[in-house]
Amino acid sequence: MLSSIMSVAILGSLLPARIPGVRRWMGANALAVVGLVLFSLQRAAPALLSILAANGIFAISIVLVLEGCRQFFGRRPSLRAAYAGCAAVLAGIAYWTWVKTDINARIVLVSAFHAWIYVAIGWTAWRGHPPGRPAYSYRFVTIASWLGALGHASRGVVYASGWEAQAALLQATPLNTAFLALGILAPSALTIGMVMLAHDRLAERLERFANFDELTGALTRRAFVARAEALLDSARRHETRLSIAIIDIDHFKTINDRYGHAAGDRVLARFGRLMTVSVRESDLFGRLGGEEFALLFPGIARDDALARVDAIRVKSRFDRRSHPTDDPDLPDRSVTFSAGVDEYRSGDTLADLMGRADAALYSAKTSGRDRVVIAA
Ligand code: GH3
Ligand code: MG
Ligand code: MG
Repeated sequence: MLSSIMSVAILGSLLPARIPGVRRWMGANALAVVGLVLFSLQRAAPALLSILAANGIFAISIVLVLEGCRQFFGRRPSLRAAYAGCAAVLAGIAYWTWVKTDINARIVLVSAFHAWIYVAIGWTAWRGHPPGRPAYSYRFVTIASWLGALGHASRGVVYASGWEAQAALLQATPLNTAFLALGILAPSALTIGMVMLAHDRLAERLERFANFDELTGALTRRAFVARAEALLDSARRHETRLSIAIIDIDHFKTINDRYGHAAGDRVLARFGRLMTVSVRESDLFGRLGGEEFALLFPGIARDDALARVDAIRVKSRFDRRSHPTDDPDLPDRSVTFSAGVDEYRSGDTLADLMGRADAALYSAKTSGRDRVVIAA
């Protein structure tokens, strides 16, 4: 009970972050408290409360954990099959309480149901692990819930086979004590796992904010430089080619002055989308600041890089012509960009390479804009 109350408190601290699933996980623990209070009333309260209601509430509580997991991973949370399972468990308990008293049969039924839900929780976390995220918390949830499932399943087998027979819930045989201990540990381990999942989601959000520019979808300057340094290192070690383009939107200040800052932002967003769909997965696209961007092409010589950037320039014109205006306030027709391109030479630092591309960009600007120029 205390551990479930603590779980409610800990999960509550995550509510402001609006992480999907957390409310259901809290609800699960709150229900578990109620269920456990009812269990503890055995003999003192009628079986309707201490057996039927207690088991029903406990079953719904574990289903809520599973639903919370599904919601966390962006899947449809509500599970009719699991609630049908709850109803079947209740029917079985009612039968083996009032029609034909059999405490072992009840234990087998409840254990089978919990084992099933625990397996599903572990499977959901296993499948939900997003590529690129550390696996630790996802695997933790899977292992914790599969161990829980194993515990419930063996409890079911032990009582189904008649190896152990029970007269009361808190009967102090070694096996029963072990099973009850597991019943206490598994839900708290699951809560710890849920908190780990939520923290990973928070970390992912922070990393996204730190690494990606919200407006254009480009890498932030810091993230671009860090990844570009790594690619430069690899080009140095493997003696492969690597080119860079520095790109600047033409007369952007005029766009802002004439159409407003919001229109300028929309131009930037469109530019970002254009770049993102035009480069390869392995290329880097970064926003160096304001309306200045960089493209890094690993494994590409500078003539090829020039051709690629120029193709984007021409394509952006074509795009403007074929979709002249879905936004009447957007001065799309007039937006062009200039770029300077150069290639890594042995001994270059990233600053050297970017400096030469920048100089080429400067000549693109002075020679009339709307063009891509290769470094002298
Ligand atoms: P050039 O063709 O020589 O590049 O001229 P330009 O006007 O594009 O160059 P300049 O560097 O003078 O102007 C850049 C402008 O970009 C100035 C700044 O207010 C604007 N700017 C920078 N960041 C943003 C942004 O996030 N949103 C908007 N709307 N404007 C921005
Ligand atoms: Mg500019
Ligand atoms: Mg500029």
